Amino acid sequence: MTNSTFTIAVIPGDGIGTEIIPPTLMLLDRIAKHSGSFQFRFIERRDCGAAYYKESGEDCSKAAFEVARQADAILLGAIGLPSIRLPSGTEIAPHLRMREEFQLIAGVRPVKAYPNTPRRLLDPRAEKIDMIILRESTEGLFFTQGRGEVIGDSEARETLRITRPTTEKLCDEAFRIARRRKAKRGHASVTCVDKANVFHAFAFFRKIFDERAALNPDIEARHNYVDAQALDLVRRPWDFDVLVMENMFGDILSDLGGGLVGGMGMAPCAELGENHGLFQPAHGSAPDIAGQDKANPTATFLSAALMLEWLAQRAGNSALADAAVALETAVERAFSSGQLRPMEFGGDQGLQQATRAVSDSLDRVLAN
Ligand code: ATP
Repeated sequence: MTNSTFTIAVIPGDGIGTEIIPPTLMLLDRIAKHSGSFQFRFIERRDCGAAYYKESGEDCSKAAFEVARQADAILLGAIGLPSIRLPSGTEIAPHLRMREEFQLIAGVRPVKAYPNTPRRLLDPRAEKIDMIILRESTEGLFFTQGRGEVIGDSEARETLRITRPTTEKLCDEAFRIARRRKAKRGHASVTCVDKANVFHAFAFFRKIFDERAALNPDIEARHNYVDAQALDLVRRPWDFDVLVMENMFGDILSDLGGGLVGGMGMAPCAELGENHGLFQPAHGSAPDIAGQDKANPTATFLSAALMLEWLAQRAGNSALADAAVALETAVERAFSSGQLRPMEFGGDQGLQQATRAVSDSLDRVLAN
């Protein structure tokens, strides 16, 4: 196999993002060196985020934005600090502009219970939670984000927008993800989560889902109303596989999902468009614990594994696919052996020690 180089735009951002990114790059480098068949060129840009806004007055430099546009993938730590805000009062969020600009319509949020992590539900089946929340990320109720209409002091309005092209692409991605999971696990389903019983926009979303489901007859297609889905995520989350939904529903249910499997430090995320992929933990910059060696790096490590998997699919590179599996397996085994014990849920390990636990586990996985 020829040696392929992948250019990764690295944006550490703010708070714990700047602390977790260096160990993540270290793990990625180690995997690449071990493989010998691919390598990474990391272009790190510190000129993006809330701290950068404070010193420069812009949320992300044009140069950093362009590096992100040109890169094979974007790896982001976390952006935003509650103490630094735009004149409108909203937080600094250039990654939301990236979603729009790079058409990152599909927010892939795995929710998986790892061994020896807190079980929020007493039912033993909670150990089996393993699902993907696929959140549309450019329209829905976020369509008028920052442009909502405020009418005097008596009313405020936002618009929910569902379009056919975006919904088709989103549903197709859901079925692609389900098919890959079926190949590994023997079964897969996609559940359309909506409120089609009340809103025309969601009936339209469901209609398009059904059309795309008909083109994917090998995958079981299901429906659930969002309120029932919230109930079911607490009552029987182990019964769900891939869940596809509108932006705001996904925003809310994916945090619920993160909570089910331990906390935000366990919640990775891939934001995918046709030509770009941005990978970041679902959590924020956690200023309350920043600079104290307390962060759980798991979500960022798992986001890096999602990046490897996505690059593998695009490049048709099986060594990258193996690397993605190796990184996820390293995390899984570090938990199951009791060697990874993040402080986030009562463990004794800060960022440094948690990194060491995953890094040692990765060495063992790569050696086999
Ligand atoms: P945002 O709106 O930018 O997503 P947020 O305001 O929801 O951010 P976070 O920064 O995600 O908040 O933090 C929420 C809580 O979770 C905080 O108490 C924080 O310390 C904790 N937290 C978030 N990420 C981690 C992590 N990786 N490790 C440990 N604790 C974390």
